[in-house]
Amino acid sequence: MSEPVLKVENLVKYFPVRSGLLHKIVAHVKAVDKVSFDVQKGEIFGLIGESGSGKSTVAKTIVQIYNPTSGMIYFKGQNLSKLTKQTIGRFRREVQMVFQDPKSSLNPRRSVMSILEDPLIIHGIGKSRVERKRIIHTLLGQVEMPSRYMYKYPSALSGGERQRIAIARALAVNPSFLVLDEPTSALDVSVQAKLINLFLRLKKELALSYLFITHNLSLVRTIAARAGVMYLGKIYELGTMEMLFSHPVHPYTKTLIAATPVVSKEEERVKPREMSKEGEIPSPVNPPSGCAFHPRCSIAESRCSQELPSPVKVGPGHLVWCHRAEELAVRAEELVVLE
Ligand code: SF4
Repeated sequence: MSEPVLKVENLVKYFPVRSGLLHKIVAHVKAVDKVSFDVQKGEIFGLIGESGSGKSTVAKTIVQIYNPTSGMIYFKGQNLSKLTKQTIGRFRREVQMVFQDPKSSLNPRRSVMSILEDPLIIHGIGKSRVERKRIIHTLLGQVEMPSRYMYKYPSALSGGERQRIAIARALAVNPSFLVLDEPTSALDVSVQAKLINLFLRLKKELALSYLFITHNLSLVRTIAARAGVMYLGKIYELGTMEMLFSHPVHPYTKTLIAATPVVSKEEERVKPREMSKEGEIPSPVNPPSGCAFHPRCSIAESRCSQELPSPVKVGPGHLVWCHRAEELAVRAEELVVLE
């Protein structure tokens, strides 16, 4: 593989919990805890997990909304902790984020024209209003919206149209990398499909790379090349979509896939069985010791609550953080052989 466009190494993000009159720090929410992955140029990399798994915090730390507690993030080889006033402007142009809820990410009192003109003015793109208007016309075309929409306000748009405007705003500064945080979750299924097609077309036409964050496994399966499965701030399995769906190894990944609707009897036949017990996701303020999944894991052993699992390579680029990974991987292979 070539040098990745984005490299995240042992990323940690803790949020302090304060209490009492003096607002003393009494604990930390361990939102992200030693997460590592990379995204290749032109790749769509997915981060999968339930609500509270820490995937959105990873996204916001990458785009510098949050400062990391520790760990490194490299973009095109540049260490983001070493950005200067000169280089931070270039980074902000190159890496843009699209949020889940377009309703709250667009100012309802500003027209589409004004919303899209803002980043152009901030980054000095388009010398005159006429030139900026021409660029906005092109941006609306890129997200498949008529130019007359530039005079509308967000309240006059549907959810899908608002998200297209949010995408156009992200594209306004000619980025090379988009962080997409549940970009279709707030929308109807039919609108989701159209937006996914739009993302795929834009990636091809504009040579973009994506970090695609979602709780929707069916969706990420159709769009991403590789993904990491997150639980309570950590990645527990990482591999290609083919590996994750055909040979899932980690009990949590199997549980997620088992709960995903399938479209054919054949898919139903090879679906992994759920490997979790009933129960809520524990609090990230006080996550379980050892493997954080152990209170819910149906095959947990005594060491699972005491020792943090190390990554086990069970195939090319396929990593699993589980004490029983090798034995589970053998069973996954056997399952394939029997088919
Ligand atoms: Fe289950 Fe233990 Fe593996 Fe965690 S390390 S997933 S508790 S078997």
